Amino acid sequence: MSADLENKSLYDYDVSDVSHLMGENIDAVIVVDPSIDAYKTIVRRGMFEKFLKDSGIYHDLILDLWFHFNDSNEKVSGDYQIFADNTGVFKSKYSRRLKLFLENEEKPHLVQLTVYPFDNAQKYIFILDEFVDSESLEESLTSKKITAVQGSYLFSMYIDLVQDTTSSINVAEISNDVVNYNLKYSDWRMMIVNMIWPEDQEQFLRRTDPEYLKKNFTPGRTSSYDCMMRNLEGNYIWVKLIFSRAQTHNEEDYRFVFMVQDNHENSMEILSTLQKYEEMAIKDPLTGVFNHGEIELQFNNALSFCQKNEAPASVMILDLDHFKAVNDNYGHSIGDKTLKHFAKILMDFSVENGALVGRWGGEEFIIVCRGKSGAEAQAMAEELREKVAADQFPDICQITCSIGVTELKKEDSFLDAFNRIDKALYESKGNGRNKVTLY
Ligand code: GH3
Ligand code: MG
Ligand code: MG
Repeated sequence: MSADLENKSLYDYDVSDVSHLMGENIDAVIVVDPSIDAYKTIVRRGMFEKFLKDSGIYHDLILDLWFHFNDSNEKVSGDYQIFADNTGVFKSKYSRRLKLFLENEEKPHLVQLTVYPFDNAQKYIFILDEFVDSESLEESLTSKKITAVQGSYLFSMYIDLVQDTTSSINVAEISNDVVNYNLKYSDWRMMIVNMIWPEDQEQFLRRTDPEYLKKNFTPGRTSSYDCMMRNLEGNYIWVKLIFSRAQTHNEEDYRFVFMVQDNHENSMEILSTLQKYEEMAIKDPLTGVFNHGEIELQFNNALSFCQKNEAPASVMILDLDHFKAVNDNYGHSIGDKTLKHFAKILMDFSVENGALVGRWGGEEFIIVCRGKSGAEAQAMAEELREKVAADQFPDICQITCSIGVTELKKEDSFLDAFNRIDKALYESKGNGRNKVTLY
């Protein structure tokens, strides 16, 4: 700041001082004209000397800012499209934080982007300013700190359904939200919906519908629900959306407080617990492959798959040879280790071949192969048999397995098909073990 500026009395500052200051301090100022798909750089310093040209294609600029140099993987989203063409729908300020990666640099630059529209013109000013303080970058990267600072409320606002207005939007520093103080509720809703996880959008629109809110909220009533919403880094996080109708004695008065609360860690914890329970329900605890119930279900699914489609499906049963001798000679825990190792070979093979594997019981396993004919499944079984025979099992070194294979037929019941692989397995055993039989 120059000396004249510093020595002025507070009350003598005017707009020209401010624009002077901005010209010298803001990292980049760009004017964009979507109607001719072009931008012109007015101010450019620091990292933006590398990043911005004097002028260029507006579309490329947007793609660079949103995607190429950003670490987010969001799709071209609603908030981009509102500036993207000359539909002229967007007449508000917009602000978001970007994490930009420059070529050959490992650390991202944290940048605040603010977009201002020109009045009555389909042009916008983009202001880009880098947070040079690396601490503020670190901070913004830890959602825990954000939660602490923001008391977990990402933003809140007042809504008046009768006036169709929004006000006092508390745009938290970390929020990716549109900055606008005179936005109609109906417009606001249509903008926010773009930040909601696509599958949750319908529910959001239903529950933010003025008629829905009027009908379901008596004065003073609060209600909330969870959904996923995009944060400033372009990632979806779990939030709690809270609506609360103001206490009033006037039946015609519909004012609400709307709040968005960061609920991500909590939701992720619940989800991972649910996932654990789900896995416990379908997985064999010793080997980690599907349990009896789940592989039977998959077997039956494959049956209805081949009944409905023209595609084939096959199944096989595998049984370790002389496994009892492993237990007898080495003990039960080495027996368990052998089962785990066997299951791991089957699992890796199944993942590679798009098949599903489960433990039928003891040392018997079933593999379900959708889309495979009997001959193809037989070839797979042969490959597996060789793999097992060639493998070095821990402690016991060598063990073999016998396999029974069959292709499912449209008219099969589960038992028909199961009896065939059982018979085929019996035959593999009878023929000296370490064999594959197709029935
Ligand atoms: P074959 O070649 O005819 O299949 O001979 P086998 O010894 O493998 O056959 P058998 O069915 O007689 O023996 C299977 C053994 O598997 C008997 C049982 O003790 C053992 N077994 C079953 N479940 C487990 C388990 O969870 N852990 C261990 N260690 N052994 C198991
Ligand atoms: Mg056996
Ligand atoms: Mg057996």
